[in-house]
Amino acid sequence: MSQNAKHLAVAGATGAVGIEILKCLEQRNFPVSKLTLLASARSAGKTLPFRGEEIEVQELTPESFADVDVALFSAGGGISKTFASHAVRAGAVVVDNSSAFRMDDGVPLIVPEVNGGDAQAHNGIIANPNCTTIVTLMALNPMHKAFGGVKSILASSYQAVSGSGAQGIAELEAQVEALARGEDCPAGSVYPKQIAFNVIPQVDVFQDNGYTKEEMKMHFEGQKILHAPDIKASVTCVRVPVFRSHAVAVTAVFDDKPSVEAAREAISAAPGVQVVDDPFADPAQFPTPLDCTDGDDCLVGRIREDLVLDKALTFWVVGDQVRKGAALNAVQIAELL
Ligand code: NAP
Repeated sequence: MSQNAKHLAVAGATGAVGIEILKCLEQRNFPVSKLTLLASARSAGKTLPFRGEEIEVQELTPESFADVDVALFSAGGGISKTFASHAVRAGAVVVDNSSAFRMDDGVPLIVPEVNGGDAQAHNGIIANPNCTTIVTLMALNPMHKAFGGVKSILASSYQAVSGSGAQGIAELEAQVEALARGEDCPAGSVYPKQIAFNVIPQVDVFQDNGYTKEEMKMHFEGQKILHAPDIKASVTCVRVPVFRSHAVAVTAVFDDKPSVEAAREAISAAPGVQVVDDPFADPAQFPTPLDCTDGDDCLVGRIREDLVLDKALTFWVVGDQVRKGAALNAVQIAELL
């Protein structure tokens, strides 16, 4: 075993993101000396597979972090607020997938391909950004660098139900299956309206300004990650009946005049993101959520000069939000450590 091997803990190991974290650790051959899997009392005693072994899940308690080097949290903001400090006191570095600490001073908010250098300035906690923000910035950052900086962003998201965790997936499945059998649609508990065969323009709770919390995350988190406090983002986040991977339609205004060709070149040269953009091929080439699911890279297409705004491009980006939007990004942060 490598001398750099770490004792990792995953808090929320049984959830959609936790299970994907285990996959990413395996696939990336992360040097793990010991793996502690934590979840609620409901899951204590269950086992999860890792590198050919079955590892028992333990109930998360304040004492769970003895000897842990890195604790990956994906159990929701409330759990992070309650338990992250215990992990830090025990000497672990916390990589947190929730929104609990993202905007706190002294907590780096990291997309490794964009601002990985910021990670070293942590005080024990590093935050993983919002998944829609990560997917958007993976496409936008190469253009931000190529065209003198982004000034403003207009975006609409098409967000998969797995973004709401295992319960979102179950709600869509149950509704689609019932409707396919000709039965009444079962009432849901995750979404405010039927999600099967529908789209819902509400992700997270509404704020006083009429935007949702999810929409404001792109505004505030984008500023922090790009070190650009003047960037403004006006976003509409929409839940769609797709199981996995988010899509975002973005119009971005830059300081310099952008071109489609230069944008394609800048994106192609950047890590973690690929251009899939040939509208005149037969069939036309553009990325969809299914094309990026289970993959590491975000895919960008439909890049064109905006017809309304000066110095602006409009484009479409898709990314697996359970993976790059959460699990993979967190594991990449752990790799930076
Ligand atoms: P999920 O599928 O609902 O899983 C939640 C996890 O938290 C489960 O392992 C659950 O354990 C655990 N948990 C719940 N209550 C607990 C408690 N009282 N004590 C200990 N563990 C508890 O949710 P998810 O989608 O994986 O999301 C997890 C976090 O990642 C959230 O903060 C979410 O906002 C964030 N995130 C999610 C995505 C995404 O695409 N899903 C993307 C970015 C960020 P049990 O199985 O025992 O209940």
